[in-house]
Amino acid sequence: MKSSARVVVIGGGVVGASALFHLTELGWTDVVLVERRELTAGSTWHAAGGMHTLNGDPNVAKLQQYTVGLYREIEQRSGQNCSIHMPGGLMLAGDRERMDWLRMAQARGRYLGMDMEIISAAEAKRMFPLLEEQYFIGALFDRAEGHVDPTGVTRAYAGCARQAGAEIYQHTWVSDLRQRPDSTWDVITESGEIHAEHIVNAGGLWAREVGRMIGLELPVLAMEHMYLITEDMDEVAEYNTAAGHELPMGLDFDGELYIRQEGGGVLLGTYEQACVPWSPRETPWTFDQQLLVPDLDRLAPSLEIAFKHYPALADVGIKKVINGPFTFAPDGNPLVGPVPGVRNCWVACAVMAGLSQGGGVGLTLARWMADGDPGEDIWAMDVARFGNWASLAYTNAKVREGYRRRFRITFPNEELPAGRALHTTPVYDRLTAHNAVWGASFGLEHPLWFQRPGEEPREDVTFRRSNAYHVVAEECTTVRERVGLTECSNFAKYRLTGPGSAGWLQRLFTNRLPQTGRINLTAALDPNGHIVGEFSVARVGTDDFFLFGSQIAEAHHSRWFLGHLADGVRFDVLGLSLVGLSLAGPGARDVLQSVTDASLATENYPFMTFRRIDVGMIPAYVGRMTYTGDLGYEIWVAPEYQRALFDLLWQAGKSYGIGLFGFRALMSLRMEKMFGTWAREYRPIYTPVEARMHRALKLDHDFIGRAAAEAELSRGPARTLGYFDITPDPTEPADVVGDEPIWHGGAVVGWATSGAYAHYSRRSLAFGYVPSELAVPGAMFEVEIIGQRRPARLLPEPVLDPAGRRMRA
Ligand SMILES: Cc1cc2nc3c(=O)[nH]c(=O)nc-3n(C[C@H](O)[C@H](O)[C@H](O)COP(=O)(O)OP(=O)(O)OC[C@H]3O[C@@H](n4cnc5c(N)ncnc54)[C@H](O)[C@@H]3O)c2cc1C
Repeated sequence: MKSSARVVVIGGGVVGASALFHLTELGWTDVVLVERRELTAGSTWHAAGGMHTLNGDPNVAKLQQYTVGLYREIEQRSGQNCSIHMPGGLMLAGDRERMDWLRMAQARGRYLGMDMEIISAAEAKRMFPLLEEQYFIGALFDRAEGHVDPTGVTRAYAGCARQAGAEIYQHTWVSDLRQRPDSTWDVITESGEIHAEHIVNAGGLWAREVGRMIGLELPVLAMEHMYLITEDMDEVAEYNTAAGHELPMGLDFDGELYIRQEGGGVLLGTYEQACVPWSPRETPWTFDQQLLVPDLDRLAPSLEIAFKHYPALADVGIKKVINGPFTFAPDGNPLVGPVPGVRNCWVACAVMAGLSQGGGVGLTLARWMADGDPGEDIWAMDVARFGNWASLAYTNAKVREGYRRRFRITFPNEELPAGRALHTTPVYDRLTAHNAVWGASFGLEHPLWFQRPGEEPREDVTFRRSNAYHVVAEECTTVRERVGLTECSNFAKYRLTGPGSAGWLQRLFTNRLPQTGRINLTAALDPNGHIVGEFSVARVGTDDFFLFGSQIAEAHHSRWFLGHLADGVRFDVLGLSLVGLSLAGPGARDVLQSVTDASLATENYPFMTFRRIDVGMIPAYVGRMTYTGDLGYEIWVAPEYQRALFDLLWQAGKSYGIGLFGFRALMSLRMEKMFGTWAREYRPIYTPVEARMHRALKLDHDFIGRAAAEAELSRGPARTLGYFDITPDPTEPADVVGDEPIWHGGAVVGWATSGAYAHYSRRSLAFGYVPSELAVPGAMFEVEIIGQRRPARLLPEPVLDPAGRRMRA
């Protein structure tokens, strides 16, 4: 065994083998993989081998597409048979909502180049004669679906990696991990130690235990999962003879099951409601290529539906039932990337569909390690999307919820119930008393809208406009015509102090730093000129700054700041040690002025001022800006003051017609002001030139990514963020939610990033990226919303107050 290597990958399942292979592809050949038993000894060996490209997140779908396309190549290069079967797959809809969902999935697939087709129930029956047509109303057919042999695939990755110089040590358990002061690692194994620059935790069923070796609690939980294989069936043989190929794969959402041909019979797997976590606290190291005891009672409700939907199954014997464990993160997507706060430590775990996703996970991880950038938009898989709030018990609740909902639709306005009201701010009860409808983001509760008194605070879930529509319209009017109050604690807040902070920050930010007492907007870029983040920067001293950014990116951004930290600079994540309320609307100044001695007149407190003042008796930092685009203030206080602040402002606002507004209204208000948002318009795959962040891009100083931004400015961006006025379907209006394809001249040319109905301006608006040469004001496009191509006119400027007079009033 080698005593040193550049990378040690821990775990020889399909994911670890893929990571090893992809590292060698990028020229990192001094790499080893250490496996405690044999390759595939965790979840991989008993997987059903199914693979598909469909995923709720189009970026994950793209990586699944890459994975499926990779198998022929690794099979050929390694000489290892992967048993690739590509019969295509049917996603079967039993009702209108599912049909809408499939149409949207098909639409999203268009700009990824996926070839999927909506077909009738009769056509589905023709392709899959075992199904009973009456239970379905249509289907989506995807040619790129199939199944492989999981062991063959893992060996093929390993074989290719070995050919390139990688070494694999089986029967070698990693018992401990120790980091040296220079951030390199001693990997302690049964057969000796390996000194490594980087470690990759691809421990699958044991990823949690490997994390614990370095004091890390990864949000991963294994669930039991069962599938059965039937005896050979005449119906299958007849189909094979007549069609000349095997049955397509089937995903039956109503039945919460998947079905495909296996030999001369079928394989049927279920995501049963009575699901069971496996080893919820600790995975035993003694678990060794074992299966779990099948529990047919748990499968019974699913089998009952299966016998109705596929009657021939009722008469066939069951040859085998497999019950095995595999892992999930709280939202069902993998955990990939550099672990925040631990140098040279990477994860590739919680991959619940290793045969669909393993290739993409390995590719992006390897690129991230070799190039410092995953090369694709993997926001949905970044390990940094969870914070410390994702505890073992939280993970357990969310994973069970996700397992049960595996084949359920999650609507764009749907908030899931597990793990809720866990992380709240001090005004939570106050806002609940005002009938708040709550959402959760990065674990924190935030008010979405405020139901009318006496009515149930509940939102109907839908792809179209919900029962919130009229109430949110009133909240928008309150802000635009009088004064609105909302909670704004759901920003990430950071403080930077210490000598040299200003010089350090200036190197990271595209905009000049503000003067003391002022705020401005800025972006941070990676060396290739892609957006790492966008922030409001408030300066309270020469070397003293508050930064406000996207809350969901708190761990992601902290990892980046800490990774660049200079000596002497102190970086603190403020979390809920700083909470906020925001006043917005033409009456905002009058309300705030009535409770403070500080003069808020524009000449004394102009737009983009940030100062420490007293509000009533409460010490506060008050920034004169809001995301509504109206006159407004964000008031930041220690949590122990937030309730008193709320009561003070609410009382003071009564004579000015104050009302509460929530996140839904904020999204509507920001749309009519053409304000983009993180994770939608601004993501790590876009550049500030594409995203039209020119006002925050000043080339008068040096900053990371400057050369790339300058080059792009001079040659012009290939794509541009457009702002669209949509004409929705008049009979069943629906607005853009994000990820819809944008059409021009009969072809898909781009995709929407977000949208909303701008109530005050009475327009359905959206953002989206299109080729720059088409981004001409007034140009007509179409956006495909729930299967309908709706007219979309590209607008040159915000529909409300383009000169920004309201904010500066
Ligand atoms: C019944 C069932 C059916 C499934 N069907 C499908 C399907 O059809 N399609 C699909 O895509 N997915 C399917 N899956 C899921 C699939 O099995 C997983 O996504 C995949 O196996 C995950 O691979 P992995 O490499 O992350 O983890 P694992 O396969 O668990 O590999 C982790 C490896 O790390 C090793 N290891 C851990 N700790 C150490 C240590 N300290 N030292 C050395 N080695 C260590 C383990 O021995 C293990 O071999 C199914 C799962 C089950 C249970």
